Amino acid sequence: MDTIQKLAILGEGAAQEHELAAGQSVPAGQAVQAAPGCFTPSRLLTQGERHRNPSVSGKGRFLPGGIHISRVGGGRTVKLLKVLQTNVCEFDCFYCEHRASRDVPRTYVSPDELAKTFMQLHRARLVEGLFLSSGITKKVDTMQERIVQTAELLRHRYYFKGYIHLKVMPGSSPAAVERTVQLADRVSLNLEAPTPRHLARLSSRKEFLDGILTRMVWINRITQAQPGLARAGQITQFVVGAAGESDRDLLQTTDRLYREIKLRRAYFSAFSPIPGTPLDGVPPAPLLRQHRLYQADWLLRFYGFSVDELAFDEQSHLPLAADPKLAWALRHPEFFPLELSTAPPEMLLRVPGIGPLSAKRVVEARRTTALTELAQLTRLGVVAKRAAPFLLIGGRAPAVVARPAHRRIAQLAFWPATTPGESR
Ligand code: SF4
Repeated sequence: MDTIQKLAILGEGAAQEHELAAGQSVPAGQAVQAAPGCFTPSRLLTQGERHRNPSVSGKGRFLPGGIHISRVGGGRTVKLLKVLQTNVCEFDCFYCEHRASRDVPRTYVSPDELAKTFMQLHRARLVEGLFLSSGITKKVDTMQERIVQTAELLRHRYYFKGYIHLKVMPGSSPAAVERTVQLADRVSLNLEAPTPRHLARLSSRKEFLDGILTRMVWINRITQAQPGLARAGQITQFVVGAAGESDRDLLQTTDRLYREIKLRRAYFSAFSPIPGTPLDGVPPAPLLRQHRLYQADWLLRFYGFSVDELAFDEQSHLPLAADPKLAWALRHPEFFPLELSTAPPEMLLRVPGIGPLSAKRVVEARRTTALTELAQLTRLGVVAKRAAPFLLIGGRAPAVVARPAHRRIAQLAFWPATTPGESR
């Protein structure tokens, strides 16, 4: 098996790992970020979009598996080689295509081989950065060391200064964790589940506290003590919907990680059963649930919401029928309608249709300009149709363009006692 064939297998194995969300900016001095929903050329690029790779094959092969083209802020795309050092794994995570008992093609790429191939791809402008993870073998540190060796070759033999995201294996030694952090722009361990009880339903080998969380704490200590390291931060990922966890469980854990170990970002991956795994019969989690979790996560990080403020249903899930901010607003008619000219900035942020940037613009604009109509708000970036039912402009309810009947019915069905119309 040649290196390209290996990368095709090992790239598929890393395809489910998330990077940064679309629309986020690239950290200063770094080349690459990728997004949930990033895609492999082999799956999604059309024939016309596929490029030949002269540096690797010289024979007109398409891009090898593992290269992901991701959208970032400003409509820019970046190319990231996302790959496993090996997909040989002795663990048995119940959701995973690479679990030990599954019969899949297995392979391994040496640090030397991977670093050399990455640089060939980089010089051919086919990749800008690397995401590197691995399956876990008996000696966890051996695999962590291979990851470190690959990064060391890139940094010190090939002088690669671009973006490198390295996985830390559960159970790695303190020395291996520290060396990984020293070489990476970003590091991650996947917590997978919000509590030890839930993780036990996903894996008999992964240990929530000793195996994973402890290492996340170490990473935070290292980066706090040496601020120049891993400047793109530490991230983690959860499998959503396979362990019976609630959205409240997921968001409470996420919120603690943001506060207590300065986690840069949590990712939520809707569970999808893989044939031949113990969770094969478990239904897939709705993508809308994943989407609502991202929206709620956004409220925690940028809108000043706490988990306890969010609207959950009886099962402690976020309602699917409305986004979490609208759900909160509908549940709190006592705050609305807000007078646009006097509302404090933190309350403007609570209005559906007003985000951090548009709230800031409204506050600046109203110092010098009388805001009297919705069209002015639209020019400031407010989604006026969403915001209008929650605002007073000059003491009067703004004229609202009627929403389609099905949207009104959906809201009424969701929180019948607290629709905006009733709250005025
Ligand atoms: S540790 Fe678990 S999730 Fe990771 S490759 Fe092995 S079986 Fe899959």
